[in-house]
Parts: sequence; structure tokens; C-alpha cells
Amino acid sequence: MELVINLTICYVLENTLYINLTNRCTNRCTFCVRDKDCGIGDVNLWLDREPTLEEVKEDIKKANPEKYDEIVFCGYGEPTMRLEVLLESAKYIKENYNVKLRINTNGQANLYYGKDITPRFSGLIDCVSISLNAKNEEEYDELCKSIYGKESFNALIDFAEKCTEYVPQVIMSVVDVLPEGDIEECRKIAESAGAKLRVRELIE
Ligand code: SF4
Repeated sequence: MELVINLTICYVLENTLYINLTNRCTNRCTFCVRDKDCGIGDVNLWLDREPTLEEVKEDIKKANPEKYDEIVFCGYGEPTMRLEVLLESAKYIKENYNVKLRINTNGQANLYYGKDITPRFSGLIDCVSISLNAKNEEEYDELCKSIYGKESFNALIDFAEKCTEYVPQVIMSVVDVLPEGDIEECRKIAESAGAKLRVRELIE
């Protein structure tokens, strides 16, 4: 019997093409879709193994990238955990297609790699969207349960600030279930890092 491996790399939501590089993440957010089911919409995003760069490029080519408003490295886990594949894929897209590139991230890559990786986004990534999720380190830790503990909150703000040097658009996001007062505090944090706050819908 033939073994079927699930390798859903590219997937589409509205007019955006998303690229799925890994299931892994340094967080275990209480609201993470990975713990609720196996996908987003009807798409099963759980990768039975991580795709190679060649597989990612092949899937991007098949998806006809210029049809989309934007290409986003996002999910199922944390895309920067596959930094080399992410950057090489971004380079391939920039060299072959005229389309905007975004990374959706938890902002913990500098902790994960133990150094500042944001200069590597220069000239490749048009937008970085960092999940802020909470107004302080205690609440972030309770909600996102990073392997780095409370340290992760200030680290992701620092990551956002560093990104503003190399990436034209830096966004920090929160979900719309937070109280209005908390959202305003998050807005101040984002703005003091040089980023813009986006209030996004909770995916259930
Ligand atoms: S950062 Fe994203 S992928 Fe990681 S646990 Fe949280 S919601 Fe899930």
C-alpha cells in the first residue's frame, strides 16, 4: 500500500498566497489552531515532514504567484524556525515575480538563533507582522507559553524595533478579544517600537 505524505506548502485565503514551512514553534499559545484541528478552513496544514527548498520553490511556481496581492510566510508553526529556506524562497520569488512578501511571526527568532537576524530581511521582505498578543510579559507568558518564558515579551518588542531598520512595513498584532484599554496599551507599545498596531480577528 502506498504511504500518502501530507506536504501542503502553499495555500490560499482570499487573495493571498500563504507558504507553510514547518509545524514547529517556540510558543504554545492557548488559542493556536494547531491544537484545535488540523488546518485552516478546509486545508490540512499539518506537514508530515518539513519541505525542502526545492519543494517549496516548485510549489510556489505551480501556484502562479503573480495572481496574488501578497505572499505570506505563515503557519502552520513559526516560519522563521526555517530561516534559510524562508530567505532562499523569498529570494527566488523576488527574482522571478513582482509580488509583495510578508512574514507572520511570533518575533522570537533572535532568541532562537542567539543573534540579530533582522538584517537578513533587507531587500527581500516587504512587511513583517509580529504577534504582540498582550500588554505585558505576565499576560503574554500566560497566553503564549514561550519556551523562553517571560523574556520573550521584551525580546519580541526589540525584534520589532530592529525590523524597522530593514523592512519597509512593520506591524504588531493583537486579537480583537482584548479589552479596549489593553488594545490601547498595545498600540503604545507598537508605536514606541516604530511599528503599527493591527487588531485582527481571532481564528476559531
Ligand atoms: S505563535 Fe502561532 S504557531 Fe506558534 S503557538 Fe502561537 S499561534 Fe501557534
